[in-house]
Amino acid sequence: MTDMLLIGLYALAAGGVVAAAGAGALRLLRDRSILVHIVVLLSVTVTAVVAGVAAVAQAMFLSAHDLRVVLVTVSASAAVSLVVGVAFGRRLAASAVWADQARERERRLEAGRRELVAWVSHDLRTPLAGLRAMAEALEDGVVADPATVGEYHRRIRLETDRLTQLVDDLFELSRINAGALRLAPTIVPLREVVSDALAGVAPLAARRGITLRAAESGWPRVRAGERELARVVSNLLINAVRYTPEDGTVQVDAGLEAGDVWLAVSDTCGGIPDDDLHRVFDVAFRGERARTPDCGAGGGLGLAIVRGLVEAHGGLVGVRNTGAGCRFEVRLPAA
Ligand code: ADP
Repeated sequence: MTDMLLIGLYALAAGGVVAAAGAGALRLLRDRSILVHIVVLLSVTVTAVVAGVAAVAQAMFLSAHDLRVVLVTVSASAAVSLVVGVAFGRRLAASAVWADQARERERRLEAGRRELVAWVSHDLRTPLAGLRAMAEALEDGVVADPATVGEYHRRIRLETDRLTQLVDDLFELSRINAGALRLAPTIVPLREVVSDALAGVAPLAARRGITLRAAESGWPRVRAGERELARVVSNLLINAVRYTPEDGTVQVDAGLEAGDVWLAVSDTCGGIPDDDLHRVFDVAFRGERARTPDCGAGGGLGLAIVRGLVEAHGGLVGVRNTGAGCRFEVRLPAA
């Protein structure tokens, strides 16, 4: 009986030393991946068994040969359990990462929904209140002279057009956020999409004295939803023209690189403040210039829509400042 107690104590002491070393190792590696933790845990368990067996064998004065036999047997089982453990650990680590990504996606969607609700209450209700006030003033005859009445009518029409555009943007964004966007990808010649968008923005550019330029050649084809791609290009172009001071230049280029199609819209807007660069794609973000009345205030949804549509295609969009302005670049998987 005392023998058994002694054997137990030897095994416990050996295992305890290994466990303490393992706890130290885990502490040092606390920032590493789940897989590293699992490997350390398994190694500690296996080493504790080996150490226990070795300590007991030494104390029991096993012959060197018997001790080797025991150690080889234990090591073989240890190797098998380590291999199995690493394989399962990998799967566990991967599912933990997926769960993490799913949580992050859900968190972003929820934040997007909250931003949209806040946006609706401010950006739709405020102009509606203005419209109502103007309509009431007309109805009650508070404004009667023909010039003011004409001006009220004009403002009501402009504001209604703007609200229509905002509701349209809002609808698009909520479809993207709800994951309800169904793409019907076809092989699209990028050149034609860009030509159409340039034609659409040309009157605004002419009014502001802005030169529009597009590369002569090198236009790739891309696999994309045509309507969505057209929206991406025209949102980027409209912004470039709106935020570039008069007599500036807007340039569109495209090409193929490392299997991706890239499209860049560069302007001479003078640059986006560094603090704003990472926020321009956020829902409802508007830079300082967008809040000045002469700029034709937008809803702050244009670039959020661009990002949503590009990501729905498995692509990426980014922006950086260049010398005279900024450059928005879209990357999409090639056709
Ligand atoms: P909106 O234009 O309606 O304000 P967007 O989402 O299209 O909303 O753009 C967000 C902000 O990003 C704008 O308010 C503006 O400050 C900045 N921005 C977007 N495009 C450009 C550009 N081409 N040049 C400079 N600033 C830009």
